Amino acid sequence: MNNSKRNAIAFLMCLAVSVLVFYAIDKIEKLNSILEITDTKSNQPSDAEAESVTPSSVPIRRSLGIYIVTAYCPNECCCGDYADGITASGHKIIEGDKFCATDPRITFHLKLDIEEYGIVQIEDRGGKIKGNKIDVFFWTHEEALEWGVQEIEIFCWVQGE
Ligand SMILES: [Zn+2]
Repeated sequence: MNNSKRNAIAFLMCLAVSVLVFYAIDKIEKLNSILEITDTKSNQPSDAEAESVTPSSVPIRRSLGIYIVTAYCPNECCCGDYADGITASGHKIIEGDKFCATDPRITFHLKLDIEEYGIVQIEDRGGKIKGNKIDVFFWTHEEALEWGVQEIEIFCWVQGE
């Protein structure tokens, strides 16, 4: 009687332990898959420059080097079929907005310090915006023309340790 009770308890304990182990493994697997996702995300930028701008926790100003900075307006003259008032990041453009377009290897919403223009977020992409090129946004085409093409050292604000 006593023995079988003990056996039953032992059996239940075993069952409980295996359930716990199973649960723990499941958790670890989930955690691993989350970590893997984060890992591939942070490895996405293929060149060293784009990699160095991956946000990580105290803002640090970091040079990205010299960029060719062109300008554009939200109208068909500059955006063609994409002149719908919404940027590639989904931002609705309003008058007085300031933001820029970069190569897709640099993540949206990262803040870039562009001398003469300001500290602005990346909100857009462009077919010709590849590598060391940045397009800054102006509400009117005249302002964009006035900007022209400039070579500027670009800095970014990233979260350090
Ligand atoms: Zn234009």
